[in-house]
Amino acid sequence: MGRPHVMVIPYPAQGHVLPLMSFSRYLASQGIQVTFVNTEFNHNRIITSLSKPSQDDHVVDGIKLVSIPDGLDEERNVPGKLSGSVLHFLPTKVEELIKTMISETSSGCGGAVISCVVADQSLGWAMEVAAKFGIRRAAFCPAAAASMVLGFSIQKLVDDGLIDYDGTPKVNKAIQLSPGMPEMETDKFVWVCLKNKDSQRNIFNLMLQNNKSIESVDWLLCNSVFELETAAFEMSPKIVPIGPIGLAHHSLEEGAKSLGSFLPEDRDCLDWLDQQIPGSVIYVAFGSFEFMGKAQLDELAAGLELTKRPVLWVTSYGHQPPIRFESDQVIVVRWAPQREVLSHRAIGCFVSHCGWNSTLEGVQNGIPFLCIPYFADQFINKAYICDVWKIGLGFEQDEGGVISRLEVKTKIDEIMRDNGEFKKRAIKIREIVMKNVVKDGISYENLNKFVNWIKSEVN
Ligand code: UDP
Repeated sequence: MGRPHVMVIPYPAQGHVLPLMSFSRYLASQGIQVTFVNTEFNHNRIITSLSKPSQDDHVVDGIKLVSIPDGLDEERNVPGKLSGSVLHFLPTKVEELIKTMISETSSGCGGAVISCVVADQSLGWAMEVAAKFGIRRAAFCPAAAASMVLGFSIQKLVDDGLIDYDGTPKVNKAIQLSPGMPEMETDKFVWVCLKNKDSQRNIFNLMLQNNKSIESVDWLLCNSVFELETAAFEMSPKIVPIGPIGLAHHSLEEGAKSLGSFLPEDRDCLDWLDQQIPGSVIYVAFGSFEFMGKAQLDELAAGLELTKRPVLWVTSYGHQPPIRFESDQVIVVRWAPQREVLSHRAIGCFVSHCGWNSTLEGVQNGIPFLCIPYFADQFINKAYICDVWKIGLGFEQDEGGVISRLEVKTKIDEIMRDNGEFKKRAIKIREIVMKNVVKDGISYENLNKFVNWIKSEVN
C-alpha cells in the first residue's frame, strides 16, 4: 500500500493555515505523505512569499501543495463572503479533488490512497465529505480548548437562560464554565456580533453544525497544552492536546521557515534585534486582520514613544503606525518572522491582539503580554493571559473607548520593570509548556499516538 497519506484542509485564513502547516511538517518528518489543500488565492500568496523560491511550486519541505478555487473575485474582504464560499463552494471542490486523486490511484497514475483527512475544526463539512469516501478523519482546532468547550456548552447556556436560540446574550455578565476556566463575558462570546445579526446567526449555526460533524471524527486534536488549560480538557476529554505545534521550527532551513505565510517575511528586523539590549524591545503585532482605528493607533504610537524603549511594530495588512520616534529606536515591518522574533533575547514584551497562535508563541518563549483583544476568541485568550496564567495586563479604555497614551506607557512600564513578577511567571509557564513537548510529555505522546494510528492502517 505504500506510505500513509494525509490530506490537510485549513480554513482559508492566515491564523489557520500556519498551525496546520506546522502540523503537516511534523507529519512529513515522520515519513507521512502530506497533501495540503489551499484556496488558489492563498496558494499563490504562499508561493510568492517563500523566502527561498522552491524548485517545485508543488512540493515544499516534503508537503505537496494543491489548490482549489474559492469562487470569489475581489470580494474576499467583504464580511460574510469568504465564510459563504467556505460553506457553499469549497465542499464540492474538495469532493472533486478527492475523486480525482482516487481515480489517479486506481488508474496507476502515481497518486496515493488517502489514509486520513485532517481538517480544520471549523470545517465540519470536510468530515462529512471524507466520511462519504470511507476515509478516516481528524479535526484540528487551531484555537484554545476553552473556545471549543464554549461551543460544546451552547445548549447549557440556552437552558440556563444566558443566551437566546440565535446566540444573543439575554444577560450581560461574566461566567465560568467550570472552576479553573477563564471568565467569559456573555456579550463577548465568540459568535456574538450585535451589530450584524445575520452574521451572528450564521456563525452560531455553523458552530452547532460543526459540533455535530465532529461527533463522528476519530480524533479531535487541539493546538494547546493540557497543563495550560486543565479545566477545559477535563470538561471535554475527547479533545486531545498536541501543542504548541510549531516548536520544531527553529531547526528548519531558512528557505522553509516562511512556508505558509501570506506575505513575505522581513528578515532584516532580526539583524536589528541582534543590536538591541536583551529584554528591551516592545514587539507590537496584531495578527493578520486590520482592526485598529486611527485615533487608537495615534495614542498607541504616542504611548510607545513615551516609554522611550525600542519598538518593533508589524503593520501587516495596511494600518500605518504614525511613528515619530528616533529612527534607530523603532522599526516598522509589514510582516515579521514572528516565531523567530518572539524567541529572540531582545524581546521584552508583546503588545498583542491575543490571537491563539500569537498567544502560544509568546507563552512558549516566556514573554509577558499587553493585551488588546478585539473579537472572536481573543477575549478568552486574554482572560487566560491576564487572569489564569497572570503573565500580562489589559488596558483600560477612556470614555471614548480609546486606550490613552498614558495608559499605554503606565502598563508597559509595569510589565517591563526589572525582575518583574510577570516575567518570572512567564518563564514558569514556558517551563510547563516545554515539559509537554519533550519525550513523555502529554503533547509529545499524543502526537506519537496519532502518527502510529495513521501508520497502523498501512502496515
Ligand atoms: N504572524 C507572522 N508575522 C507577523 C504577524 C503574524 O508570522 O508579522 C503569524 C503569527 O506568528 C501567528 C499568525 O501569524 O502564527 C497569526 O495568528 P493569530 O492566531 O495570532 O492571529 P489571527 O491573524 O488569526 O488573528
